[in-house]
Amino acid sequence: MIKGKTRKNTYRAIYRLLDRVSPVPFDCGTICGAACCRTDEPENMGLYLLPGEEKIHDRRDPWLTWELQSTEEYDFPPSWHGKVCYVNCAGPEHCRRSLRPIQCRTFPLKPVILKEGEESPVPVVYREPGCELALTWQDEALPYCCPLIASAAALDPAFLRATYTVWKHLIRDPLIRDLAAGR
Ligand code: SF4
Ligand code: SF4
Repeated sequence: MIKGKTRKNTYRAIYRLLDRVSPVPFDCGTICGAACCRTDEPENMGLYLLPGEEKIHDRRDPWLTWELQSTEEYDFPPSWHGKVCYVNCAGPEHCRRSLRPIQCRTFPLKPVILKEGEESPVPVVYREPGCELALTWQDEALPYCCPLIASAAALDPAFLRATYTVWKHLIRDPLIRDLAAGR
């Protein structure tokens, strides 16, 4: 299993912080039928845990199904050697919200590290002045349409600040930094 530097307690604290915020001040699942949580196409709807994030999950808990995937077979940074955890959830009706993974909590944004003077290929949604970290819309091919991304919705400032704080902390882990830097 790929070994990250982010500790179990850090993941716990991050989950607690992100429990308090949402992308918009209403349940955006009501406008799209919770498109990003549906498992009608299970092969497309799983997500990767960050290195070490698996430590706060119990694999015997049936709401998630687990698979180990080789980093070499997928598009991970070259520094990622070994296996990563790929999980599928049982859908929004069974979601254990206090345990949903970071990728669920920070969607529809993604972290991007920009070099000085570098332009982001995707519009930046949030960035602190002088900081290399930016949050952009998630721009990977998705098997559904997220209305927040499609409309470039104004996201809740508390969500933006908390999500930024979390990624700023997470990119202290060299593996996660490489992921955000795309290298
Ligand atoms: S697809 Fe977008 S709008 Fe729909 S629930 Fe997910 S984040 Fe909210
Ligand atoms: S774990 Fe919860 S939030 Fe994440 S995709 Fe599944 S139902 Fe949605």
